[in-house]
Amino acid sequence: MTVTTRFAPSPTGSLHVGNVRTALHNWLWTRKHGGRFLLRIDDTDLERSKEEYVEGIRADLAWLGLDVDGEERQSARFDLYEGEFAKLKAAGRVYACYETPEELDIRRKILLSRGLPPVYERRPADAPVPDGVAPHWRFRLDHDAPIEWTDMVRGPQNFEPRTMSDPVVRRADGSWLYLLPSVIDDIAMAVTHVVRGEDHVSNTAAQIQMFAALGAAPPAFAHEALLVGTEGKLSKRLGSLGMASLRADGIEPIALVALLARLGTSDPVEPVTGVAPLIESIDFARFGRAPARFDEGELALLNQKILHQTAHAAVADRLPAAITAARWDAIRPNVATVAEAAEWVAVFDGPLASRPLEAADRPVLAAAATAARGIDWDADPWHALTAAVKEATGAKGRALFLPLRRALTGRDHGPDMAGLLPLIARDQAVARLSAS
Ligand code: GLU
Repeated sequence: MTVTTRFAPSPTGSLHVGNVRTALHNWLWTRKHGGRFLLRIDDTDLERSKEEYVEGIRADLAWLGLDVDGEERQSARFDLYEGEFAKLKAAGRVYACYETPEELDIRRKILLSRGLPPVYERRPADAPVPDGVAPHWRFRLDHDAPIEWTDMVRGPQNFEPRTMSDPVVRRADGSWLYLLPSVIDDIAMAVTHVVRGEDHVSNTAAQIQMFAALGAAPPAFAHEALLVGTEGKLSKRLGSLGMASLRADGIEPIALVALLARLGTSDPVEPVTGVAPLIESIDFARFGRAPARFDEGELALLNQKILHQTAHAAVADRLPAAITAARWDAIRPNVATVAEAAEWVAVFDGPLASRPLEAADRPVLAAAATAARGIDWDADPWHALTAAVKEATGAKGRALFLPLRRALTGRDHGPDMAGLLPLIARDQAVARLSAS
């Protein structure tokens, strides 16, 4: 049996970190088992679904490196749904309903006021059918079939069908709600594992009976705890934090993937530069039941740590030509984003804004300008330079290193000077030391 998963977004908006996390877990699980990862566009709502969102979803998955093994669209599958619906209708598993939303609301309130659960009450078989009202359709739950499954995240699950309302599966205008088409597709596409958020747990309870009614065994289910913001709540920001804004902030796709893969699991979040260890480690039994907290600060830090280990070849196409492999290796411990590397071009090749000089530093810089002309620049110029200046002026420690760093790089902080200086041309260095 080929492990088959699907990521099933509705193209009514852009992907945000929450649904990207679900996509990622499906993908990692599938890649671990050498299976098929499908993108299923849930576009039964023709009015709210937009082509630009479909394109955005594809682009975001590609940016994240989540390659798909097939794409399906629900809007192209209405004939199939119609056929399965007809079978369920003939078998009495879907039935026509005529209540208006107002009537349903009143019934609910009456039940609640009597202290009863607001479960939908089926109308008696002999109740008259109202004239000229198009019905909507509900799925008839089998009250005698207990609903049970062992969730890969949540463990054993149990639902009593009598306490559940028969779910509406089709509207009076013929349009589909999510529940039934999803099951029909999961069967038709031979989906073996459904990985989604725990907000779908009660849907699963009803869907398990739909699988049975359609003559199929249900897939395995993994319902993951929801993602919340740092304040511990489902935050608006999180719900709208899209890939475009993360990319604009310089977040590398692998950083987001590394964080989302492990957040809320008992495996530590690690600064990996590739997905192999994440594929290797995915295990739904290691997913926690508590909400996973997404922290943008943690993401930025992880991004930085990953960049510090990222090879030049992996980012060269986004670097200015002046940032050669050796220069990238020298600056990568000091950049938070790839874009920041551009700011270092001037440090290597000039021009540097001249900075006011402190009188106490003058002798050090004068000695350095002289020494820089004579030392072997191809060996270890920083150690040769500092040794010569120390010898000439007696300066040491901070009083020696800081004025040199400032004059040579225009900055107070930065990468190790021994690694940096050989990457600055001698002429540049001499000019900077003399100008100071
Ligand atoms: N379109 C549904 C959603 O986005 C899919 C849920 C599922 O994975 O079955 O919530």
